[in-house]
Amino acid sequence: MRMFLIVLICKIIYYASRFVGKQGVTLAGLIALKMDHQILQKLSIQVKKKIIVVCGTNGKTTTNNLIALALQGANNKVIYNQTGSNMLNGIVACFILNTNFLGKLDADYACLEIDEASLRRIMPQCKANILVLTNLFRDQLDRYGEIDITMDLLNEGLKYAPECKLIVNADDVLSMYFARESGHPYLTYGIEKPVQDSKNDEMKEGQFCHYCNHKLVYNFYHYSQLGDYYCPNCHDKRQHIDVNGENIIFKDHCEVTVNNIRLITNYKGFYNIYNILASCATLINENISLEAFKKVLVNFRPENGRLEEFNINGTKVTLNLAKNPAGFNQNIQLCINDTKPKDVLIVINDNAQDGIDVSWLWDVDFEEFSKDNVDKFYTSGTRYKDMQLRLKYVDITSEAIGNYQEAISKAILNSRNKNLYILVNYTALYPSHVYLNKLQNEKVK
Ligand SMILES: [Zn+2]
Repeated sequence: MRMFLIVLICKIIYYASRFVGKQGVTLAGLIALKMDHQILQKLSIQVKKKIIVVCGTNGKTTTNNLIALALQGANNKVIYNQTGSNMLNGIVACFILNTNFLGKLDADYACLEIDEASLRRIMPQCKANILVLTNLFRDQLDRYGEIDITMDLLNEGLKYAPECKLIVNADDVLSMYFARESGHPYLTYGIEKPVQDSKNDEMKEGQFCHYCNHKLVYNFYHYSQLGDYYCPNCHDKRQHIDVNGENIIFKDHCEVTVNNIRLITNYKGFYNIYNILASCATLINENISLEAFKKVLVNFRPENGRLEEFNINGTKVTLNLAKNPAGFNQNIQLCINDTKPKDVLIVINDNAQDGIDVSWLWDVDFEEFSKDNVDKFYTSGTRYKDMQLRLKYVDITSEAIGNYQEAISKAILNSRNKNLYILVNYTALYPSHVYLNKLQNEKVK
């Protein structure tokens, strides 16, 4: 009876919130936890096969969605937090919204992207069988501190799941140090050989050997600190790659061969190759054929502002999340890869979830935009002036408009090239997505 009430109330809250244009997931989860502290445990133990958790600085949502869809494609029942509500309340809501009114969950797998700092609050009640770690880049400083702190947070969470297997990016020296020291079994994925045009000396983390503190040498970089590294002093080097990506194409769409299977998607950007490889490694670990994944990828349509495309009054609008330097640099490369003339709007907020310190903007290589064919720049969000100043330092003139709706409407109305990129950080993503959907449906007045 109690479970019936909790499920009923949460579903009502969720759908009522959606009706008034709010996400509603976190509120539903919060109320459920208030009504029953053990709710997550009661529901998560009902998962029949495995709980798969995705952590890491960038690529969590896409990787988690890809894994979930691929498992579904292989005839499994899967629940997943597809909107990216990845803290405790969001995870609780994900379970409850998929439960029937008797409190019964019918799921073979739960695929959960989880915020690194929330893992230790979730794992005691919801023990992961597999942890997929996408990468470890520098993120919002005031939330996570240095990368060492992120690793400590992950370790704290993993303590509750001693059997958990890790799936890690062999090209990321930081993820590999974490996996090797964790004592957990792990499977690696990566790209063994250099990819044409992938070299880029952007921002690098962990340039020093974890074992002897000597500076690492790279045979090549894929991007950021991802690449083929070794230590000339103690001879530590990139570990064996279990799931390797070959013959890669990433500019206007992605193609990669894994275990002799050619995987193709309209999704673009080098970082998505890694999201695909992380998904492949997870599927291979579950003995699931990549043929099923191949079909999923062909039909994969990005949503929730991950390279989501809109058509508004004939203008192609591409919305993408850019919440830290590594992610932003990849976004700039994406813009450059689109050789058509375009306008760019950058929306930066400084709410708690974004990190109130926006100094990371100074670690982004905005000067790379000089290689791009951008007609007009706009800045918006609560820190629109900081963003405008940042661009000014690399000789980019922009129009600053504080209100994001006004900025979006103006950028679309004045777009001569009918090609607009909107790059937003975390809390600007959902409202921008909602507003663009609204415009797409009713057109800009
Ligand atoms: Zn060394």
